[in-house]
Amino acid sequence: MKLKKKDKVIVLSGREKGKRGEILQIFSEDEGRVLIAKINMVTKHKKPQQNEPGGIQKKEAPMAACKVMLVCPKCDKPTRVKLDKLATGERVRVCRGCSEVIL
Ligand SMILES: [Zn+2]
Repeated sequence: MKLKKKDKVIVLSGREKGKRGEILQIFSEDEGRVLIAKINMVTKHKKPQQNEPGGIQKKEAPMAACKVMLVCPKCDKPTRVKLDKLATGERVRVCRGCSEVIL
């Protein structure tokens, strides 16, 4: 998976199409699902417990990583990235649009 936590991404399909958000969490063990801030919100109804009142809670639900695309921080466009190796041997992602290294 080429996505990382805190990446800015744009949603490509579904009811959240065109929205942007930041990746909060990545579930790589679950065939590439990601949790994105303020995207794919679901409503959870909570039953009242002894100490806390019940109510409606909004919460992000994970969505398929293939439905989002990384947004390059430099050119601010959704981009496919290629992987490159620095002289130090570190593997980095590079924007295909502007060739900026995306850390
Ligand atoms: Zn770029």
